[in-house]
Amino acid sequence: MELTLLGTGAPSGLPRPDCPCSVCAACARGRTNTRAATAVLVDSTVLLDLTPGPAFAAARAGRSLHGVRQVLLSHPHEGPATEFPAGLPAPLRVAERQDLALISGHRIRAVALDSPGTGYQVTGPDGERLLYLPPRAAPAGLEEGREPVSSPYDMVLLDVIGRPEALARLREAGAVGPATDVVAVHIDHDVPPGPELHRRLAAAGAHAEPDGTTLVVGEYPDVPEIPRRTLVLGGARSGKSVEAEQRLASFPGVVYVATGGTREGDAEWAARITAHKERRPASWRTTETCDLVPLLEEPGPPLLIDCLALWLTDAMDTVGAWDDQRWATVGSRMLRERVSELVSALRETRRTVVAVSNEVGSGIVPETSSGRRFRDELGRLNTEFAGECEHVLLVTAGIAQQLRG
Ligand SMILES: [Zn+2]
Repeated sequence: MELTLLGTGAPSGLPRPDCPCSVCAACARGRTNTRAATAVLVDSTVLLDLTPGPAFAAARAGRSLHGVRQVLLSHPHEGPATEFPAGLPAPLRVAERQDLALISGHRIRAVALDSPGTGYQVTGPDGERLLYLPPRAAPAGLEEGREPVSSPYDMVLLDVIGRPEALARLREAGAVGPATDVVAVHIDHDVPPGPELHRRLAAAGAHAEPDGTTLVVGEYPDVPEIPRRTLVLGGARSGKSVEAEQRLASFPGVVYVATGGTREGDAEWAARITAHKERRPASWRTTETCDLVPLLEEPGPPLLIDCLALWLTDAMDTVGAWDDQRWATVGSRMLRERVSELVSALRETRRTVVAVSNEVGSGIVPETSSGRRFRDELGRLNTEFAGECEHVLLVTAGIAQQLRG
């Protein structure tokens, strides 16, 4: 199957008309960042969703709409999108789990969603399968097996930025595998265009293409591999935890490792933990531990370690690092051993790991000797940990800079 992306933007297009935001302004400046409402032409026969001026968009992409036999809508279209071009068959929405066989050999099946709208599974004459989901939508009923999945799709097109958990659900059900081509569509003004958008999508194992691109289903494009080990550095409240969570939002069953433990009677701490928990997807599991080595050694779903600074506090407590005498005799050596055990486990791990740590070294010099000791040891730990990571980011004011990877 050959697919032409007539549009790849949100229903109102990108930039949104009259939107004063910085993302829309940036999109308006770059021609390749302008995106019409998402519409996809399959083998010049099936048109998934209509976009304002689809015939014009098709002509720009070097395609004609003359051969279109079926127009399918995945979500209610309003405004100019409903302008119906002459010569196209009337659009329709296939009812849930209804099958439609076309004379061209394509088969179409409606997929149940957890939001208004319909997803479409299109099977080509040669058996390749693609899944197309409407904006802000995720499939429903995958967990209970109401939508049986025989094998991973060859290609899925969905709102990766707006609904990352849709991808997590498809991965969990086996509908998206390592060879599935994940294409982001319905792109809205949530993420700055260009490198920032591509960085966010690459972390989810997805990619975006400009309007007018033609893709071949089953021909896997050159997408950067999802890094196995990532370290996210940042100062206090820099947005480093949010960045780490976003990186794993499209993966199922993530284990969130809270190294802070529980602090009896500390209301402020409890409130922080609750706020973190509420932000995370319900399918994630939380474990409160500083025992990271066994977690890294055993196979399993991705780990989000938040954070290394608290792990270090615990390790320094354990080795008696705050007592000058003990630190000089045995404490520093014991800490070295703990850090090197952690770093070797990280090197050997087969799991996807995203770890968060504080970047404290560039601030003012701490007044106390224990403060200086902690700052120095955290700098060393971050350096050693980063040495084993394929990907290292520094977050400042919510903006992630790629230091490595
Ligand atoms: Zn905007």
